[in-house]
Amino acid sequence: MRWNFKSMRKGAAAAAVIVVAAAAATGCGVKTVSQETETAPPAETTQEETEPVRPSEPETGTISPLPSQEEEEEEKKGKRIILMTDIHYLSPSLTDGGEAFTRMVEHGDGKLVNYVEEITDAALDEVVNQEPDVLILSGDLTLEGEKESHRGLAKKLRRVEDAGIPVAVIPGNHDINNPSAAGYEGDGIYPAENITAEDFEKIYWEFGYEESYSRDSFSLSYTYDLDDQYRLMMLDTCQYDPVNRVGGMIDTETYDWIEQQLEEAFEDGKTLLPVAHHNLLDQSQIYVGDCTIEHSSRLIDLLEDYDTDLFMSGHLHVQHWMQHDDIGIYEVVTSSLSTPPCQYGVLDLEKDGSFRYWTQSVDMESWARKNGLQDENLLNFKTYSPPTLNRIFYNQAYDAMKDSREEEKGSLYVKLTEEQKDAMSQVYADLNAACYGGRAVDVVDEAVKSEGFAMWEECCYPPLLFQYLEYIVSDAVRDYNTLESY
Ligand code: FE
Ligand code: MN
Repeated sequence: MRWNFKSMRKGAAAAAVIVVAAAAATGCGVKTVSQETETAPPAETTQEETEPVRPSEPETGTISPLPSQEEEEEEKKGKRIILMTDIHYLSPSLTDGGEAFTRMVEHGDGKLVNYVEEITDAALDEVVNQEPDVLILSGDLTLEGEKESHRGLAKKLRRVEDAGIPVAVIPGNHDINNPSAAGYEGDGIYPAENITAEDFEKIYWEFGYEESYSRDSFSLSYTYDLDDQYRLMMLDTCQYDPVNRVGGMIDTETYDWIEQQLEEAFEDGKTLLPVAHHNLLDQSQIYVGDCTIEHSSRLIDLLEDYDTDLFMSGHLHVQHWMQHDDIGIYEVVTSSLSTPPCQYGVLDLEKDGSFRYWTQSVDMESWARKNGLQDENLLNFKTYSPPTLNRIFYNQAYDAMKDSREEEKGSLYVKLTEEQKDAMSQVYADLNAACYGGRAVDVVDEAVKSEGFAMWEECCYPPLLFQYLEYIVSDAVRDYNTLESY
């Protein structure tokens, strides 16, 4: 039997989860919930019943082999995972914050690399405070795979593990053998040292590899036991040998390992949770080639054979989830931590096999105040970050339309006036920014009524951006920030 799912409002989370736990007891596909953990041993119950009660002693002083209420609740408690992805951390030693750096941020893809140091620190502080059972980083740990950035991030992660929270990482396409590894100085960009796959394993040894249950010898994939019920399958879907590629792929040898892991988990009565950088399903209908794992149908078939219902990934930088049309597996894509709304995913896996997922934005304002920072942008992050992201996406559209006078569209030359470019860039920015946060649904009605949108529909130019815009509109049917089984 399969899980059923529904979107959930954040506010209703606490109440909803109780319903979830009760309803899903028989609803999950895999998975043996051990009887012993659910009920108290009968022998001990008998002992308590026959124990003579001595009235002179307080009730708490009697021998009580039954677990206390807190212990019972602890026993029933599942696991909490925090998922962060696409941090794209850049070591401060690699930038002077000059012209070249600012240009990269302002004309980039929305990552606030100018505050990535602070966003990372604040996010990791929240992890330490929230005490999840594990912190997962699903790739694109660094901006462009600079060795300095990897080392800097590993140092920050050590602080999280020192606080008693295990960290498990996998690489993203930007992390290994990346020829774009660079530093920024003044108006120039200079090459920086990158890393090999061996370096990656060495640098992040303590963050998953050391504690792994099984290691794939053909990639940086591994499995990791969360407890006696849940096992993470951390999949390395990246291509970095002999050259670095954007897209995701899994080698034949690694498929053999995956199958073996699925079989073993089944035999051990474990529920496997696969995590990858690249997407299992066509989450981006426009950039499929570079986002979905090549020949992912093979992986989908394997996961289906073993009744896997949930898959976690990143790479898109967009908050999203979807379900496979036929087999019903769900994939949740968490958005990039360093891109507003600068959020991470929280996944609760319950003892009965049910789960709930939701996102949380890093509270930069409180963090800045607490740390006595003077930076007005950080102290007012909720007012600073949305227009900043909007401006970057505006630049994206505007830059693409810059040469519109010379560009050919079919047999017609598209000539856009400044006013048209401005109105079109504006609506593109509004829709795209909301889409990145998984909430295009909140702005779509207004956006499609705007003059700028009418211009897009009239010009259909630049074609790729127009297609992308049409996709955002058609996909803006729900908030993609929550998902739960019931
Ligand atoms: Fe990324
Ligand atoms: Mn990526």
